[in-house]
Formats: sequence, structure tokens, C-alpha cells
Amino acid sequence: APRLVVLDWIMPEMDGDEICRRLRADKNLNSDPLLYKYIILLTGMDSRDDIITGFEAGADDYILKPFHAGELKMRLRVGMRILTIQDRFYFAATHDALTGLFHRGTIIKFLNDEMGRTKHNNKAVAVVLLDLDHFKRVNDTYGHSAGDCVLRETAGRLQAAGRAEDCVGRFGGEEFLLVLPGWDDSQAEVCERIRRAVADREIVVGRDSITVTASIGVAVYQPGQQMALDELIKCADQAMYQAKDQGRNQVVYFTGPDGYNRCETRNQI
Ligand code: GH3
Ligand code: MG
Ligand code: MG
Repeated sequence: APRLVVLDWIMPEMDGDEICRRLRADKNLNSDPLLYKYIILLTGMDSRDDIITGFEAGADDYILKPFHAGELKMRLRVGMRILTIQDRFYFAATHDALTGLFHRGTIIKFLNDEMGRTKHNNKAVAVVLLDLDHFKRVNDTYGHSAGDCVLRETAGRLQAAGRAEDCVGRFGGEEFLLVLPGWDDSQAEVCERIRRAVADREIVVGRDSITVTASIGVAVYQPGQQMALDELIKCADQAMYQAKDQGRNQVVYFTGPDGYNRCETRNQI
């Protein structure tokens, strides 16, 4: 749908001010800044009161008829500029500056939404916590900016390794969190692919070739399960620490009491 809207006021089915009000009251549009509509009312209604009513209805700009094509063009340009600035701020507020991945708050919100969705689509969701192994050594050996390059390259590989519906975020430092919706156990190969994407190819930074590996913990949330989001992440975290204990560079699933990768009980590894 268009994001920049030029609306007449008097129209057959619904007047422009009413369209403005409805667009501004729409919960879906309001929940996502990328869906914001920049609205220009273009009308012959030219009294002060009309103009105020138009702005009160939610218009961003107001142009009187008869209008000048050049002025309309310039005002459209202003609208484009505001939308572009807004998008940039939104990106900066939701993404990690170093890697360009979603940052912690965004990926957690995505996970929260997906956990809620399991009730309706009856599909599990997997949370994958990935921590680079001995990353401090990378910084100590090659320097901090080489470490940054490794983080950026790792981020790109994680994005490429997942499926289209998967979502990757930087959880913090050298830790990444992936949310894999529509999970069933046959998709375990996705996690193995993610592990290999990090470990199998060296990362070239200047004259150095750097090999890193990752320890990966996976916890699966079953449809409608009673479990808080932070507990689910704790399960993945425990599994990740087990991967570290068992020698790193491996995937470990959090297992419940029946051996199934279900997080019904804590401390069950
Ligand atoms: P382990 O295998 O047990 O996870 O060992 P580790 O060295 O990866 O873990 P540790 O927690 O000791 O060190 C993490 C390192 O990650 C230390 C920190 O300087 C580095 N790090 C965190 N964020 C960044 C970053 O943005 N850039 C760079 N270059 N390094 C970072
Ligand atoms: Mg860590
Ligand atoms: Mg680490």
C-alpha cells in the first residue's frame, strides 16, 4: 500500500478527513512505523476551520485548490524526506549498528510474537542461542577491529544459513539469537547448517585468515506451552553452556525429562 497519500476531501464513498481518522486509528498501522502513511489533504475547503479540522483528523499537510503543480511536487518531496528520515531512525532503533542484525530488544519481541502465534498455527518455535568460542582470543591475537569484522561476517553467514522465515539477532557481545518458527525435529539439520556456516570457512581479514567456531544451544517451545520467554531463553542458554562443556563447536538441545527437546522443566539437562 502507498505510504505517501494525496487525498481529496469531498469524495463519493468516504470523505478525506474520515479516511485520515480511520488510518490514524488503525492499530495495525500504528504498531509498525514502517506502515505510517504521510497524508496530504488536497482540497477546495479553504477556511481556517477546515484546515484545522484536516490537521486534527490526522493530515500531515494541507494544500488548497486550485493548486500549483510545482508546489505539490515540493510538498511530496517533503513527505518523502520525512518518511526516509523516519525509516532511518526506525532502523537504527531496531538494529545493531555493528552487524546490521536485529538488536536484542527486536529479536526478543519477534520471539515473543512467534511464541504467541504457536497457539493459532499449532507449530513449535525453536530458539537458538549461539556463542562464539574463545572469541576473546580473536581480539587478543588479531585486534579488536579484526574481531569486529569477524562478528560482521558471522552475522552475514547466520542470515544466509537460516530459512526465509527464520530471524537472526545480536543478543549481545559475541552472542547471537536465532528464532526458527514452524519448527519440527526434522529441521535439526538447520542448526547443524548454522554451526557449519560459522566454522567451516575461514574469515579473511586483511592478511589474516581467522577460523572461529560456535557453541549452540537450542530450546523448543511447543504450541501453547506454559512457559515464560526468559525461561525459554534460559533453557537455550543452559544447552549452550553444555555445548561449551562438551568441547565447543557443537549443537546441544535442551532436553526435558522424557528426552524430548521440550522445555517443560528447568535444570533437566
Ligand atoms: P567462550 O568460548 O567461553 O565463550 O570464550 P570467549 O572468549 O568467547 O568468552 P568471553 O566472555 O571471555 O569473551 C567474549 C569476548 O567478546 C570479550 C569481548 O571483548 C568480546 N566482544 C564482545 N563484544 C565485542 C565487539 O563488539 N567487538 C569485538 N571485537 N569484541 C567483542
Ligand atoms: Mg559470550
Ligand atoms: Mg564466547
